Amino acid sequence: MRNKRTRQIFEKVLVTDAAAKGKSIAKSPDGRVIFLTNAVPGDVVDVEVFKKRKAYYEGKVVQFHSLSDKRTDPVCEHFGVCGGCKWQNMKYEEQLSFKQNEVVNHLKRIGHVDIQEILPIQGCQEVYFYRNKMEFSFSDARWLTPEEIAKGGEIDSKFACGFHIPKMWDKILDIEKCHLQEDPSNAIRNEIKRFAIQNGLTFFNPRKQEGLLRTLMIRISATGEMMVVVQFFKEEKENREKLLGYVAEKFPEITSLQYVVNEKGNDTIYDQDVVLFKGRDHIFEEMEGLKFKINAKSFYQTNSAQAYELYKITRDFADLNGDEIVYDLYTGTGTIAQFVAKKSKKVIGVESVPEAIMDAKENANRNNIDNTVFYVGDMAKIFTSDFIAQNGHPDVIITDPPRDGMHKNVVNQILEVLPEKIVYVSCNSATQARDLELMKEAYDVVKSQAVDMFPQTHHVENVVLLQRKV
Ligand code: SAH
Repeated sequence: MRNKRTRQIFEKVLVTDAAAKGKSIAKSPDGRVIFLTNAVPGDVVDVEVFKKRKAYYEGKVVQFHSLSDKRTDPVCEHFGVCGGCKWQNMKYEEQLSFKQNEVVNHLKRIGHVDIQEILPIQGCQEVYFYRNKMEFSFSDARWLTPEEIAKGGEIDSKFACGFHIPKMWDKILDIEKCHLQEDPSNAIRNEIKRFAIQNGLTFFNPRKQEGLLRTLMIRISATGEMMVVVQFFKEEKENREKLLGYVAEKFPEITSLQYVVNEKGNDTIYDQDVVLFKGRDHIFEEMEGLKFKINAKSFYQTNSAQAYELYKITRDFADLNGDEIVYDLYTGTGTIAQFVAKKSKKVIGVESVPEAIMDAKENANRNNIDNTVFYVGDMAKIFTSDFIAQNGHPDVIITDPPRDGMHKNVVNQILEVLPEKIVYVSCNSATQARDLELMKEAYDVVKSQAVDMFPQTHHVENVVLLQRKV
């Protein structure tokens, strides 16, 4: 039998930096990086190593010697267990400073680009309650905290409605108050849970694949409209109507109450019918007089106020005069395209999700915008010389790809057509940097501005303006 090795401990190390996924970084005496799970930069700590690799360690703090002045008290009672807001224990200005550094480091170290102007990161006005959409899961096997287990005795309820414990697909933390979405989000979730327990409705068990209540989605738009979608695992008409009838009566401010009966193994609703129970099957978001229709499956930026800031920066960087042909690549529901349409001759939006393009067309119509065209297609395939010949040579390309960045074909095609300007919006500055490096022979990086859409998390958006070299 193998001897149980004693775990390695590093004493009194200074935590120097923040890293992705709420981790932080310290240096071990042998020069390797240590990734830590429960510290804030500036803390001095003893670290127990639980994973050793060639280039780094992973560890956890076993003793704090001094606490960082970058710390602040987390506002949420679920902090530390819930995977949601891992940076709540760090002051917001410090969060912003780490995000700014990360973006600039990526552009310089991965992209090796010279940035003519680095603008300061744009923080959020609201650092809590900023999300317009939340999704919660039901479970009949509530996650118990170590404190509860230590206390022993009777467990008061095993039912949960909340979030998955990080890396555990079948464990749900019950949430009493989430600080990410404004009221009555918490009240709706808690009332549904209370009513369900009181009336004996069953909660989902992912291992056994049984139980009635599965997920809950709540969307609250900037116009005050509210959508609630309850997902059931099976058809129990009487229970369903009882629950939804109660929710409709208790929260008359819900303008769209819908449900899904999903008997599949996974709980995504994208391939399911969403059924209207009360109100309309959609809500509206509004931005600068533009209206965007949102149904249960539509994509919309989850922080509406900050999406507006992001789009304004994008439009400012493009600096349009009304005569330009603009391409909006990865257009989603065409929000950026419509946002810049008034200052463009024509905008061509491209996106791979057909439903999003249907929304984009419908929204453009409703907003009386007649100079946008939208295409469904995989950017890597659709964005060809023929496509460009058909739609016109781009003066400006706005691109907002997913986390993987742009496909090589797309970058190559951009380098083929050489628009005067490119505005690159990114939710992952590492892949953005990789793409910028591919374009740096032909383009100057004029300016870069990070925008924080997700306070209390490590996520950050970055907008870069590229100008064709003369
Ligand atoms: N600009 C939009 C959406 C950006 S998110 C907004 O601000 O709302 C990125 C978008 O790229 C998503 O809508 C996603 O569906 C789309 N997408 C992902 N891969 C794609 C591909 N290969 N081709 C085209 N679109 C893609």
